Amino acid sequence: MDAVNLSASYDAAFVDHVQRESGQSLSRCYQCGNCTAGCPYTFAYDIPVSQIMRLTQAGQKRRVLECGSLWMCATCESCTTRCPNGIDVARVMDVLRHISRREGFAARRPVKVFWDSFLDSVRKHGRVFEAGLLAKYVALTGRVWTDLDLAPRILPKGKLSLTPHPIKGRDEMEKIFKRFEARGGRS
Ligand code: SF4
Ligand code: SF4
Repeated sequence: MDAVNLSASYDAAFVDHVQRESGQSLSRCYQCGNCTAGCPYTFAYDIPVSQIMRLTQAGQKRRVLECGSLWMCATCESCTTRCPNGIDVARVMDVLRHISRREGFAARRPVKVFWDSFLDSVRKHGRVFEAGLLAKYVALTGRVWTDLDLAPRILPKGKLSLTPHPIKGRDEMEKIFKRFEARGGRS
């Protein structure tokens, strides 16, 4: 990682924001590295999760919110389970993603488009409709060949339905989305 001048770019408001929204005390992190050791995506992250914790603690807003790791996190909560200080690290990652989106730092447009398409599908059908999700994602990104090589393996297994199967109680799902939006979610 490049050297950064921590004191010059310390953003106290950012630290406060993350702590308030996540309900976690960042100062409790003493950089043991357990979260990174247990994270299944460390191999693919541009910044490992323990370093994201440190940079967040140090108020390095831009560095954190622009990193690609936020968009690869699977919210598996392994980091949360392994933290010896009881920090809900996955929750911090979640909050950072939300702030990144809201404040226009989300650097990887296709990932953002995928998230939006996924959530729109869940909102409409009550569960994800994969073929519809795929069509929307391709239309918005132009990435026609994305994962096309998987088709011969999943189609014969009936894993990709060509028609949606809406659930009962979609009204309840809509209420969840509305509550989320009322609290400032998605932008
Ligand atoms: S929740 Fe995200 S950061 Fe934490 S271990 Fe899982 S993939 Fe890694
Ligand atoms: S496991 Fe907890 S204390 Fe250790 S580096 Fe990660 S967040 Fe910090």
